Amino acid sequence: MTWPKRYGGGERSGLERHVVLEEMLAAGAPVAAHWFADRQSGPQLLRFGTEQQRREILPRIARGELVFSVGLSEPDAGSDLAAIRTLATPVKGGWSVTGSKVWITNAHRADYMIALLRTELPTEDRRAGLSQFLIDMTWPGIKVRPIEDLTGEAHFNEVFFDNLFLPEDCLIGQVGEGWRQAMAELAHERSGPERFMSSIQLLFLMIRELSNGATDEEIIEIGRLVSELNTLRLMSISVAGMLDSGKDPSIEAAMVKDLGARFEQLLPEVAQRLLDIVPGIDAESDLQKVLAHIILMAPAYSLRGGAREILRGIVAQRLELR
Ligand SMILES: Cc1cc2nc3c(=O)[nH]c(=O)nc-3n(C[C@H](O)[C@H](O)[C@H](O)COP(=O)(O)OP(=O)(O)OC[C@H]3O[C@@H](n4cnc5c(N)ncnc54)[C@H](O)[C@@H]3O)c2cc1C
Repeated sequence: MTWPKRYGGGERSGLERHVVLEEMLAAGAPVAAHWFADRQSGPQLLRFGTEQQRREILPRIARGELVFSVGLSEPDAGSDLAAIRTLATPVKGGWSVTGSKVWITNAHRADYMIALLRTELPTEDRRAGLSQFLIDMTWPGIKVRPIEDLTGEAHFNEVFFDNLFLPEDCLIGQVGEGWRQAMAELAHERSGPERFMSSIQLLFLMIRELSNGATDEEIIEIGRLVSELNTLRLMSISVAGMLDSGKDPSIEAAMVKDLGARFEQLLPEVAQRLLDIVPGIDAESDLQKVLAHIILMAPAYSLRGGAREILRGIVAQRLELR
């Protein structure tokens, strides 16, 4: 919605995009496959990509034709992202990549991955020597192995690179600037309405269930949740405004992500306290199914997109508290 028209975008504001995404989440629309590309990969190419990358890729994302994945985490390099080891070695005409990524959402469906790779062996400054690349997932030398999560679904994956050849024009931005670029990408990842509305159906179903003759205690609990939701919404909208005006909202985005995860983990707790129902993935009612699914997904909310302690560390550091 927000990209320039020459790349297939709508030249709308971040606020308008926010409103549409919010409505889609409220309606339970299946947005997950598309949102990495829309939310972060596209904006990353707009900001750091070459003109050729923008012209080839962005219109296809805008038409809903491409699924993207984000290749940051590696075994032994999750919160400590600077520990990544997957190496892109310069070879004639490009780079040769060997290593692996883990927990990569949608890698099994993705047309492309934007990956953070090591282009120099680690030195004392571990954030140096990293670069970002655009990887076509159909190229030889890539193996994707799904990982089953607690719900029994497999939406994230291990991805193995074995002498994968990347032509020179796959580089995004500058060699060695990958850390700074990836941090800019995370502000897009951490602040949107999906960070506090991915479980919103549970709140709607709870309200429907309690709407006939709720007790004072139940009304107070629901009121608390709704006021928290409203506060998160205002915070997220203000981050969209900062992104629109080219400001760096990394602390604000980290706060939305952390408070959003807390809110979403609270929802199933309150539901179990207030409602006399047994959750069940294969149960009859929507409420039982949604509650069961969210109980199983909730532990991941404070890990995906940056673990809780790490986000709080970012805020504390920028406030010079540590
Ligand atoms: C559902 C889901 C989807 C994901 N999708 C993707 C994806 O598409 N692409 C991708 O690259 N990654 C993805 N991830 C990975 C995610 O980014 C990592 O799980 C996250 O960064 C944490 O890393 P880790 O799992 O290695 O945990 P660890 O870093 O081992 O952390 C384990 C625990 O220790 C705490 N901890 C770690 N270091 C510190 C510290 N210095 N101080 C205090 N506490 C600390 C953490 O807060 C956490 O509670 C996904 C994860 C999940 C759960």
